[in-house]
Amino acid sequence: MNKPSFSPESLMMSYGYKPELSEGSIKCPIFQTSTFVFRNAEEGKAFFELAYGLRDPELDEQPGLIYSRLNNPDLEILEDRLSLWDEAEACAVFESGMSAISTCLFEFLAPGDLLLYSNPVYGGTDHFIKHVLAKFGIHTVGFKPGQSIEEIRDIVEATGKADRLAMVYLETPANPTNALIDIKGCKDLATRYSTSEKQVLVAVDNTYLGPLWQHPLKWGADLVLYSATKYIGGHSDVIAGACLGSNELIGRLKTLRTFLGNMAGPWTGWLLLRSLETLKVRMEQQAKNAMQVADFLADHPNVEKVFFLGHLDPADGEQYRIFQEQCLSPGAMIAFRIKGKEAEAFKFLNNLKLFKLAVSLGSTESLAQHPASMTHAGVDPEVRLDLGITENFIRLSIGVEKAEDLIWDMEQAFNLVNTPVKVLI
Ligand SMILES: *Cc1c(COP(=O)(O)O)cnc(C)c1O
Repeated sequence: MNKPSFSPESLMMSYGYKPELSEGSIKCPIFQTSTFVFRNAEEGKAFFELAYGLRDPELDEQPGLIYSRLNNPDLEILEDRLSLWDEAEACAVFESGMSAISTCLFEFLAPGDLLLYSNPVYGGTDHFIKHVLAKFGIHTVGFKPGQSIEEIRDIVEATGKADRLAMVYLETPANPTNALIDIKGCKDLATRYSTSEKQVLVAVDNTYLGPLWQHPLKWGADLVLYSATKYIGGHSDVIAGACLGSNELIGRLKTLRTFLGNMAGPWTGWLLLRSLETLKVRMEQQAKNAMQVADFLADHPNVEKVFFLGHLDPADGEQYRIFQEQCLSPGAMIAFRIKGKEAEAFKFLNNLKLFKLAVSLGSTESLAQHPASMTHAGVDPEVRLDLGITENFIRLSIGVEKAEDLIWDMEQAFNLVNTPVKVLI
């Protein structure tokens, strides 16, 4: 019988780890060490030659362990396992999603370059693009979901810097509206601006659906980014990030990571190894629950509109087409507009018992928050409204609890929104 090629969920407990190198321990220990002892001076010399690129590796020669800012077994094994879900050649893990994103933008953009990005993007990314990149002389221009590839091309041309376009940065589905961007269409656009000397890269923040339900590399993306704080970590107890892509691009990123020193530490690496073992069962349960919660919301008299990928239908046109082609599940993120204004939204949030009122997403516990005054408070109010983030807009991240309990919780909170405040005379 031929050996099957195992699925990622079958490999999350073992891939890349050799028990015989760690006293037979079934689990990878936490290599809580800053530095590694060389067997002899010749070995130290050989490791450094490779680390500094002073010579090519011999056949089957692996980089040796030198110092935990360069590498560490917990980090290396984690990177190998994360690569399986996206079928990427390589992965680099960082101490936060923001450090993965900022390091990626710094490595692949230079002063004078143009960055094209989708809107809305995560608040931290938005700030970094608008306020930090500008300080380094990097030009940026945004587009919105729903704009056609030709309209986006016109936006690039209107900058007068089309020849300096270096990267297309996408976040899809967008946080918090669940709006979708066509990765393949954007790759075609990037290819149109690529020349023999310069490849215009496509980078995708895949935090909202990855690594299970959307694989941007398959649609032509060059780099995939994650806040591993979200689904990958999944227990609201660790901050981390990752970037995946080809050996060449991730090699460049790891070099910059070595000098910025923003790699994840061994303890973070170990926590994420543990999280990865249950990634698939967690995410699948979350998606199942989300479908029930979204259906409940869609039928509820207090709800004006639900934003959920599972409710897209052919009448939604391009958004439906992108969902069908690009996504493998509607995921576990729901947004909705409650009937009323900020007061009704706050009353609903304040009365939830099982849902926690907190930002972040993708974890085992369900979370609710108010984007206009919380995650997206820093976005220009006009832009915020333009993106549909109104004062009655609520975002939910669905966890692994029993769906009926979540629905009960929302029902009782809606009832309290409808109860007039008793005035004692
Ligand atoms: C949370 C988040 C980030 C930032 O990640 P951190 O781990 O908090 O640094 C980036 N992008 C998206 C879509 C996120 O949800």
